[in-house]
Amino acid sequence: MSSHPPIDLRSDTLTLPTTGMRTAMANALVGDDVYGEDPTVKDLETRTAKLLGKEAALFVPSGTMANQIGIGVHARPGDELICAPTSHVYVWEGGAIARLWGVTTRTLDGPEGRLCLKVLEGKIRPNDGHYVQTRLVCLENTHNRGGGKVHPIADVSEISGWARSNGLAMHLDGARLMNAVVASGVSAAEWASHFDTVSICFSKGLGAPVGSALAGSSEAIGRAHRLRKFLGGGMRQAGILAAGAIYALDHHVDRLAEDHANAQILAKAIEASPGLKLESGPVETNLVWIEVDPKVGTAAEVVISLKARGVLVSALGPQVLRACTHLNVSRAQIERAAEILSKVAPRG
Ligand SMILES: *Cc1c(COP(=O)(O)O)cnc(C)c1O
Repeated sequence: MSSHPPIDLRSDTLTLPTTGMRTAMANALVGDDVYGEDPTVKDLETRTAKLLGKEAALFVPSGTMANQIGIGVHARPGDELICAPTSHVYVWEGGAIARLWGVTTRTLDGPEGRLCLKVLEGKIRPNDGHYVQTRLVCLENTHNRGGGKVHPIADVSEISGWARSNGLAMHLDGARLMNAVVASGVSAAEWASHFDTVSICFSKGLGAPVGSALAGSSEAIGRAHRLRKFLGGGMRQAGILAAGAIYALDHHVDRLAEDHANAQILAKAIEASPGLKLESGPVETNLVWIEVDPKVGTAAEVVISLKARGVLVSALGPQVLRACTHLNVSRAQIERAAEILSKVAPRG
């Protein structure tokens, strides 16, 4: 066993609130947000709307709830949503699109899970009683299962132009939108301008303990407010949580560049290793998806052997691992993890 504390790369949700964040949370002004009386929640919602260039925003407990409310705002039973087969809304939200809204999902594949206009053209269902009605397109930026890649802004803009001219709504799963902002230099408002609703997570790389938001027009967020209550997402003195998210927006956005630089160090180690390779090509942000050579063993076996050497990663497929960089992992720890990963080799 390693004598160091484990280097935990399983997820960027594992971040712990910093001392400054805890102080901000402890000192937050609060009220009953279901009564609309929590000033800190209102402050967060105003800042988020401004950041995303939208009229309004709504604080919710999780990214899943933000996405599902976004979908529920646009679609009705008998409608259809189009997304990539690797989308979080489709794979990792418990089938909520069907269970909550009676909406069917049509998955269309694009390179690294990123839809493009070519794939979408001709896919709107005819206006005829036999069919579900194509209602919205959901993109994810950065795309988690697509290797944490940034969706090229030119493709997003083309898709959005096409969707708008065909009367479709656009929802962005922006759980890691700020990673895309830092990696691309394109502002959050510019990304968001191509969508009707946008979700953003404060509890991933931004490092807040709890919380996400949904942003959109005043009208969309008005409807979202009703849906949040119906889902049980109305929280009372939630300003304590919102204060953590505000702190994250003020202090933890620019530093995402460090996570991205650390991910490059891991990527080089993977490329150097005889038994591992990058699953989705070059790494662009803080997620490193890794393919395990069967000669090394299964992903689950590699997780166990890395753990014994003090590095925690996730097995997310029979031969697939994911390592995430985040604010609780230092450069020195990344260098140590890289050294260990670079030595993963076939048994022999
Ligand atoms: C984590 C994540 C979410 C939301 O997750 P919660 O755990 O519900 O906060 C949504 N989309 C993507 C791409 C994610 O990685």
